[in-house]
Amino acid sequence: MNHSTSKRTARKAVAPQVESTVLIEGTTAKIIPCTAKADFQVGNSQIKAGEKFYLVRSERRENRYYVVHYNGTRNAYQCSCGCNMCEHEHLSTVRAYVMANVVAPAKAEQAKSSSQTIVVTELAPMTTPLTAAQWKEIMKRDKARQKAEKAKDMAKILEAREQGRKEASIA
Ligand SMILES: [Zn+2]
Repeated sequence: MNHSTSKRTARKAVAPQVESTVLIEGTTAKIIPCTAKADFQVGNSQIKAGEKFYLVRSERRENRYYVVHYNGTRNAYQCSCGCNMCEHEHLSTVRAYVMANVVAPAKAEQAKSSSQTIVVTELAPMTTPLTAAQWKEIMKRDKARQKAEKAKDMAKILEAREQGRKEASIA
């Protein structure tokens, strides 16, 4: 292997197929507003801990969501998919959501009160400060809890049935 070949191989290795979505199960919501608990990156979107971001459902891939956030440095919304900051459906979905749920209530609030302070984050209807991984973990735990509850219910039913049989035999 000569020098130039190894260089080419190395370049290929550092640019693998980038996963541009995250797996979110247990929901079919078109858009999910979130707050990051830790720094993470999906595709083009680099999210810092505490930053608000939006998960936008993929039309083609089941349970897959794109990560859209506001890139303060570039002053534009940015998507984890290949379109990045170019105007496309994922960004317009987020913009429409923000206009309807965050900007509009904030304006209404401002009109009512004399205060100029608008706490946009508090107006978001759903504050689910979870990363995708944490989310997955919670879903997993919830499934386990449901299973345990079902087993408990079943035990109760059997017990009640047993009790009923006893009472019937006494009568
Ligand atoms: Zn996109």
